[in-house]
Amino acid sequence: MQFRDLGRQYTRLKPAIDKAVLEVMSSGHFIMGEAVPKLEQRLAEYVGVKHCITCANGTDALYLALRSWNIGPGDAVFVPDFTFFASAEVVAMCGATPVFVDVDAATFNISVDDLEKKIRLAQEKGGGTPKAIIAVDLFGLPADFNMLRPIAQKHGLLLLEDGAQGFGGSIGSKRACSFGDISTTSFFPAKPLGCYGDGGAVFTDNDEWADMVRSLRVHGKGSDKYDNVRIGLNSRLDTMQAAILDVKLTVFQEYELAAVNSVARLYGERLTDAIGKPSIPEGFGSSWAQYTLVLESAEQRAMLQQRLKEEGIPSAVYYPKPMHRQSAFAVVAAWECPVAERLSSTVLSLPIHPYMEPAEVQTVADVVNGL
Ligand SMILES: *Cc1c(COP(=O)(O)O)cnc(C)c1O
Repeated sequence: MQFRDLGRQYTRLKPAIDKAVLEVMSSGHFIMGEAVPKLEQRLAEYVGVKHCITCANGTDALYLALRSWNIGPGDAVFVPDFTFFASAEVVAMCGATPVFVDVDAATFNISVDDLEKKIRLAQEKGGGTPKAIIAVDLFGLPADFNMLRPIAQKHGLLLLEDGAQGFGGSIGSKRACSFGDISTTSFFPAKPLGCYGDGGAVFTDNDEWADMVRSLRVHGKGSDKYDNVRIGLNSRLDTMQAAILDVKLTVFQEYELAAVNSVARLYGERLTDAIGKPSIPEGFGSSWAQYTLVLESAEQRAMLQQRLKEEGIPSAVYYPKPMHRQSAFAVVAAWECPVAERLSSTVLSLPIHPYMEPAEVQTVADVVNGL
């Protein structure tokens, strides 16, 4: 069994993907070929925002967003303590200070109560000038933007949605990657919408920030790429990846998002209620980047992981270390995040993807239920 079976997906999509790749090969337009703007337009329409600017990966997407806001030394940016390293790394890349915020035990997403507390602490203890919040849509579930928006407004903070795992999620009728002042995603192969290499995108309704991101992604270009008005980077999405994503976005919309939700629903039915299963709040939709259990202890987790392994079932720990314990951030004031601390020693993610068969879900559930 595969954790995320990309081979099965390719078998299904092979004719369309091979054709799309070969077309790019014979066009000779490997950089910024016509598949790129076409994809950007489709993504912007799907998400429901004015601008989509693709880039080289999800980390760059976050970095480009912060740079377009001029986040830099002396600024504080609030980041959940329980996330992938890149969500906080980009803050430090800008020279700003990440302030780690605890997460909600049920949704794994940034805790609005602790956010208010950490904003207060940053102001009192001089942790930098609060400038922005990075809210992560962890494991496919959008953060609680209905609660986050008023807090951002009250404190004059910009809201950045890290939708690297959230593409396809929703709150009410609105789609993930439309909730931030700027939102970003990643097309890393294992993400809900993945390409065959690295890729990412920035989404916003704001014309000025969109222009800034377009400039920054090509060496800070001005009127053309040999007129450089600021220091930027080289962060374009390859034409080949755009062509692959064009095929994958179609099936994502047609059936993959529905299929992965069916798999999650089946897990919910087949797994015993004695185990800590993920729950999706009323009105929210997840794209199920991960299906993550919370065990009672680190020992119980290790035992389950071992039993799954014996049955040939892969599992993974996302994430084994809270951000404030990463040695790269050791210099940053560590304010308490007890929930993130506990989750990092008790979570376990099970195989999930749109091509998973009901019998496979049952096989996994049998091992988990036998714990
Ligand atoms: C994967 C991921 C990123 C980084 O995306 P890359 O394309 O790998 O650079 C950022 N944030 C989160 C939450 C992620 O899961």
